Amino acid sequence: MLPEEIADARQRRYNGAVAYLRKPHSELMILRVKSDFPRPAHRAGQYCSLGLGNWEPRFPGCQQEDLKPTDESKVVRRAYSISNSILDESGNLIDVAATDHLEFYITLVKEGLDPTKPPALTPRLFMLRQGDRLNIGEKITGHFTLETVNPGDTVLFLGTGTGEAPHNYMIWELLKTGHTGRILQACCVRTKRDLAYYETHQRLMKQFPNYQYLALTTREVEPVGQKVYIQDLIASGQLEDRLGEKLNPAKTHVFLCGNPKMIGVPTKNKETGEREYPQPLGVIELLEKRGFQTDNATAKQKGNVHFEEYW
Ligand SMILES: Cc1cc2nc3c(=O)[nH]c(=O)nc-3n(C[C@H](O)[C@H](O)[C@H](O)COP(=O)(O)OP(=O)(O)OC[C@H]3O[C@@H](n4cnc5c(N)ncnc54)[C@H](O)[C@@H]3O)c2cc1C
Repeated sequence: MLPEEIADARQRRYNGAVAYLRKPHSELMILRVKSDFPRPAHRAGQYCSLGLGNWEPRFPGCQQEDLKPTDESKVVRRAYSISNSILDESGNLIDVAATDHLEFYITLVKEGLDPTKPPALTPRLFMLRQGDRLNIGEKITGHFTLETVNPGDTVLFLGTGTGEAPHNYMIWELLKTGHTGRILQACCVRTKRDLAYYETHQRLMKQFPNYQYLALTTREVEPVGQKVYIQDLIASGQLEDRLGEKLNPAKTHVFLCGNPKMIGVPTKNKETGEREYPQPLGVIELLEKRGFQTDNATAKQKGNVHFEEYW
């Protein structure tokens, strides 16, 4: 595309700007976007889309992309959970109503699982700088919310990587509304530097005795915590030890977000009609064997295990 065509496409297709950007390292970012339109009403845990034109440059070192000439002028969009930094600079819970942006927590995907489909959006998002323009969806949606949680319930947030994003917003909501039950978040990443909100969680634990944060790293043991996956945490009983109570489905809600392998959504066998759990063992199988019931969107049934798969 010619420079004037690009300028015109940006003008027509972009409806928001980067208000803030922090990169804990080159492949992880916290991004705040201010839309040209008033921020839509939404609930903690929901998501919207972000988009950039295929004409935008890609981050160096990412899988090569060979675009068809007809695709060059298209905008590529992906879903992103809305995140929350929880505490402001003074250490108080953020006054979300007084802000006008949406926060996102995004990881760079350098290569697609399918070699014929190079990642389209994140290599472009990671070229953004403060003030740059982009496309933001006008609709915020999703059922991954605190809707069915009661004030005294134990709430567990188990995530991988940037799957922490919607959990942080929901934790903000619980703390802001004076939730009295225990709240525990565990996040599994490769190394500690992949935990952009680590310091915030340390401060939160000091301020809120009912809040606990467990950092799980799979490529290093020290200094964060233990080299365990979320599944191990439950199966070994460590989660209950940290919680100080047995997992009780009658008063516990579990939120799962991120890597589909960690979540392990069962499927229905087409011939027998039976529910089949995937391999490797996922958290849903572990929890259902302990009496938990997973949300069933098709049957419009709400359980006490809620999940959001990122791919
Ligand atoms: C409801 C929803 C909410 C989402 N929220 C977030 C979010 O808050 N933060 C975020 O980083 N991503 C989030 N995602 C994933 C996001 O939509 C994109 O798929 C991702 O950013 C990659 O986009 P891409 O175009 O670069 O690569 P794509 O072409 O979309 O590549 C897809 C491949 O990248 C891998 N992948 C996708 N997402 C991730 C990830 N987060 N971590 C590691 N590998 C991944 C998978 O192997 C997947 O097959 C969400 C997805 C959904 C469905």
